[in-house]
Amino acid sequence: MFKGLKEKLKNWTKKISEKTETIDEPEKLVEAPKKEDEKAEIKDVGLPMEFDAGMQKYIPDTEEIKSIEENLQETVEKKEEIKPGEKGFLKKITSKLIKVKISEKEFEVYSEELEMLLLENNVALEVAEEIISKLKSEIVGKEFLKKEVEEEIKDSLKEIIKEILIEPFSLVDEIKKKKTGEPYVILFCGINGTGKTTTVAKIAEQLKGKKISSVLAAADTFRAASIEQLQKHGERIGVKVISHEYGTDPASVGFDAIKYAKKNLINCVLIDTAGRIHTSKNLLKEIEKVSKVCKPDLKLFIGESITGNDAIEQVKSFNWSIGIDGIILTKADIDEKGGTSLSVSYVTKKPILYLGTGQEYDAIEVFDKNKFIKRLGL
Ligand code: GDP
Repeated sequence: MFKGLKEKLKNWTKKISEKTETIDEPEKLVEAPKKEDEKAEIKDVGLPMEFDAGMQKYIPDTEEIKSIEENLQETVEKKEEIKPGEKGFLKKITSKLIKVKISEKEFEVYSEELEMLLLENNVALEVAEEIISKLKSEIVGKEFLKKEVEEEIKDSLKEIIKEILIEPFSLVDEIKKKKTGEPYVILFCGINGTGKTTTVAKIAEQLKGKKISSVLAAADTFRAASIEQLQKHGERIGVKVISHEYGTDPASVGFDAIKYAKKNLINCVLIDTAGRIHTSKNLLKEIEKVSKVCKPDLKLFIGESITGNDAIEQVKSFNWSIGIDGIILTKADIDEKGGTSLSVSYVTKKPILYLGTGQEYDAIEVFDKNKFIKRLGL
């Protein structure tokens, strides 16, 4: 899941961190001379203010310190002459203290690459631009220790993505807040084939596990076999389905399901609506009517994780027409990219509540921002 974005981000972060401008080399240091050259042995770059000379404690005076320093400097210079450019032990250690800075020019070069990799992995252009502009203000011109620069970039990306993904609320908690005797009504919208009907059944099954009863409303009275499809799901999971004839008003199916729930003290009504092309004005008008009549507590958009820009256009028009409250992305199990989650959250400012992770009823997981970020390797 989401391997595309993970791999690409990892490579990019590594690349830019290797190409940073060095601004602070450590002081010139040389390799410690070999043991046989006892006089030239350098144990420490700093001079001891006192040391043991046999049994006595010996404290050198200022003149002596000066002369030792001069000798040491000579030895250092000699050593450099002997093995110019050779990387030594001390150099290796202190190279970790090199400070680096990412210049604006460097960032511009690499940001183009970052934009491409984000777009290729289903991140919408406006989201990619936001990520890049925030990352730029976080890292350009700042000093980092070379050994830490990769982690610093990763941390910045992590925070930016965390901000883009809206914090999800708990559906179960919301349902439990509803006063007794009043069912909690959820309207599901989205286009055909995205997994909407399956998701309605998955949610009912999840709620059952939390001791929350539900009834399903087959409000897709438009597409042939849709009512039977929902009824089949209902039978399999043992949940009642309310349906009317094909061609009847979908709003009335929802209304009847709510009536049924009130009468039978059922906690939740899940309304499955007809999948509609988000560009069809008539069908969008129809779902507006269902929404007005049934007054749902929650309007959920169902979209496919794998479709990228299509899912973004869909969620925008459903949000515009009925004002959605949350998102469920299906087929995350077969999504190698991962960018759709970022895009749908950013364009709607609404949280993703669940990810569909397969065809089985239990193949659904509560969306967890930290888990998502971990899946991206950040
Ligand atoms: P609808 O037309 O939007 O109601 O879509 P359906 O519920 O009929 O689902 C369409 C297809 O997607 C079916 O074959 C489902 O089994 C499949 N599907 C639904 N959710 C998921 C999911 O999370 N992962 C995978 N791999 N398939 C899914």
